[in-house]
Amino acid sequence: MELWQELLRKSLETAEDFAEVFGVDKDLMRRIVEKYPVRINPYYLSLIRYKGDPIWLQCFPDIKELEDEDMPEDPLDEDSMSPVPSITHRYPDRVLFLVTSQCSMYCRFCTRKRKVGDSSKISMKFIQDGIEYIRNHPEVRDVILSGGDPLMLTDYMLEKIIKALREIPHVEIIRIGTKMPCVLPQRITGNLCNMLKKYHPIYVNTHFNHPWEITPESKRACEMLADAGIPVGNQTVLLRGVNDDPYFMQELMKKLLAIRVRPYYIYQADITRGANHFRTPIKVGIEIMDKLRGHISGLAVPYYVIDAPGGGGKIPILPQYVIAHNENEIILRNFRYEIYIYPDAKEEEIEEIKYEPKSTTEPRKIIERKKWLVE
Ligand SMILES: *Cc1c(COP(=O)(O)O)cnc(C)c1O
Ligand code: SF4
Repeated sequence: MELWQELLRKSLETAEDFAEVFGVDKDLMRRIVEKYPVRINPYYLSLIRYKGDPIWLQCFPDIKELEDEDMPEDPLDEDSMSPVPSITHRYPDRVLFLVTSQCSMYCRFCTRKRKVGDSSKISMKFIQDGIEYIRNHPEVRDVILSGGDPLMLTDYMLEKIIKALREIPHVEIIRIGTKMPCVLPQRITGNLCNMLKKYHPIYVNTHFNHPWEITPESKRACEMLADAGIPVGNQTVLLRGVNDDPYFMQELMKKLLAIRVRPYYIYQADITRGANHFRTPIKVGIEIMDKLRGHISGLAVPYYVIDAPGGGGKIPILPQYVIAHNENEIILRNFRYEIYIYPDAKEEEIEEIKYEPKSTTEPRKIIERKKWLVE
């Protein structure tokens, strides 16, 4: 057995485990565990510094999870955009492909709380139907392996899936969405990297939420992926009490860049049953973005997005930089709240360009181009 599998085996998962280790009420724990899966592996457990800290809040079951029964279970309407059970096809050219329901740590704020941990629906057929769907849809050029955490699969199983996808000519890129570099970095092994790099272009998006999650182990994991030629991005969820603070977000984003991970998204926490105690007002996210752009390297600035309820997709939210805009000028403010006036270009006339073909088979044509002039 590999080290990561051994660590996984030693995870806290049952009400008894929690009662024993933390002296918490066993019956209360049982009520939560029955409803939503719990798993804290020894590595992630070791990151906790005190009860109720930002690491604890992300992994430790809380009574609040049982207090928002009236909220939707499937806020993003992923189920209705599921042509086959393993696929969510929301955007024109890319799909989310669920390949497992297992995770090495069950985040208490997970949007897919209703699905994770339940492996009853995952079978070889479930996966094969997904591959078949992608094969039959030539518009799909980007496949995002998701779950659960795809790296819960063995290298063997993962390679089978990736290999099958690579045999489909229209699949240009394969992305893997995995929390492993953060929650169980021991999963990133030399063997895994050597396998993945046979199937380039492969991208990985990982999921760090707090600077304390960046450790020598997670640094090593991200650098191994980068050394295998895999661009690594990061998706953060904005969480009350965990990272709803511009200072910690700045720290997190800078530290990610330093371990060669490019911040990609900050998600507004979704409206999900069992996870609403993590939601923050949107102005908290806007305030954070205001303290990122201009203040730290542009490379460290992700997009802040709201995944629109009902399946509208991700919509970016920006602080208000445009103060006024008319046909002559735009009035802007910068990250220091200084005001600038920028004279706009004017639409003047239509210019006709005669296009001379380079070969005799190409038709002669006239291209119309708008000419933009600055006064
Ligand atoms: C987030 C998401 C994607 C990928 O979106 P990008 O903006 O391309 O990263 C694709 N499909 C679904 C259903 C998603 O939720
Ligand atoms: S790792 Fe991802 S899918 Fe798994 S519980 Fe956490 S957020 Fe949900």
